[in-house]
Amino acid sequence: MDPLLTAFLGALVGALGGWVASWVVRHRADPEPVPEADPVGELREVVAALESAAVVVGSADDVRATNESALTEGVVIGDRVGIPGLLDLVRQVRRTGEPASVHLEVPRAGRPPRPLAARVLPLGDGLVFAVVDDRAPGLRVEEAARDFLANSTHELKTPIGAVMLLAEAVEQAADDPVAVRRFSSRIQAEASRLGQLVAQIIQLSRLRGELPRRPDVVDVDGLVRQALDRSRSFAEQRSITLTTGGTSGLHVLGDAAQLVTALTNLVQNGVAYSDQRGRVVVTTRQADAGAVAIAVTDNGIGIAPDDLERVFERFFRVDYARSRETGGTGLGLSIVAEIAEGHHGTIDVWSKPGSGSTFTLTLPAAPSPAPTPPPAAASAAGTPNQEEHP
Ligand code: ADP
Repeated sequence: MDPLLTAFLGALVGALGGWVASWVVRHRADPEPVPEADPVGELREVVAALESAAVVVGSADDVRATNESALTEGVVIGDRVGIPGLLDLVRQVRRTGEPASVHLEVPRAGRPPRPLAARVLPLGDGLVFAVVDDRAPGLRVEEAARDFLANSTHELKTPIGAVMLLAEAVEQAADDPVAVRRFSSRIQAEASRLGQLVAQIIQLSRLRGELPRRPDVVDVDGLVRQALDRSRSFAEQRSITLTTGGTSGLHVLGDAAQLVTALTNLVQNGVAYSDQRGRVVVTTRQADAGAVAIAVTDNGIGIAPDDLERVFERFFRVDYARSRETGGTGLGLSIVAEIAEGHHGTIDVWSKPGSGSTFTLTLPAAPSPAPTPPPAAASAAGTPNQEEHP
């Protein structure tokens, strides 16, 4: 081969080899660019989905992720933490790397400070996560529980004091059998009142927030029957007539035992607050929007307009003397209200002093369960039910 050609080919191969080698080195040194990892990443979606106010704060106190609650509650303002006490805690957690929590009182113009609870966690790389909750609803529940406890103990003191005094009186009247019998029967009355009070206090504390999780289909006619059965001997004592009317064959959704308790309380109030030979009527009807209304009407003493809005309060009694005489505790209607609320229903009252009262319990209707009632029962729908005389 021509030495010139040989030299040329050699140079060409050398140059090509050098280029290939440098291409390989270049491509080994510069891999495909990978997008930089976002340290907040998917946390954003989690923060956005939280119901509590939540915020992820970066190393320069900048807000890196937040949610709707944090913005509306003023926990985040713009891209900064809006509560100075919370920012201090965020900085502390970033510095120490230890989680921390604090109760904060956030000042508000012209109103009491807002109570908040904040929990703060370090996420690493200078990131800090904070979640903030409003403590006001929890504090209100605590306050209501404290009031209830204070009122309960106050109410329990009265019959306990009476029992103690009567026991002393029995001791002193040991030689007088007539007086002993009189005091003993009063001890029995006070003890039974005490028992009723304790039972209702327990009932009320069990009911609080307790909703029937899987409500039953409850037969309204059966409900009314049981409430009247429970009230019959009391009605007989007072010569009160118990009557039912309205539509039969209705069903509601709920807890049968609780509903019997509620209806019994209403019927017994009708009996207690009526004059001798009065009448208490329980009427059932299909109400609007898939509801059933059960009304208990009496022609008794009625309630003055000012007292009407307070009758559902715990321990409230309009006529203290009368409710003591009838063994009232002031808890019956608050139990009814609690049960109505637990059933997503309502309790309403109409009353006129001297004319009487109507308490209406409205509950979500349930479709009548299959199989359909026999023709005899079906034909009773819409006709008034029987009257019951004591
Ligand atoms: P109580 O155990 O005292 O009856 P409730 O909570 O059932 O307690 O009722 C509260 C108060 O409302 C009663 O003390 C009474 O003054 C009044 N009240 C309730 N039901 C009637 C009614 N049907 N007619 C007149 N007053 C009533």
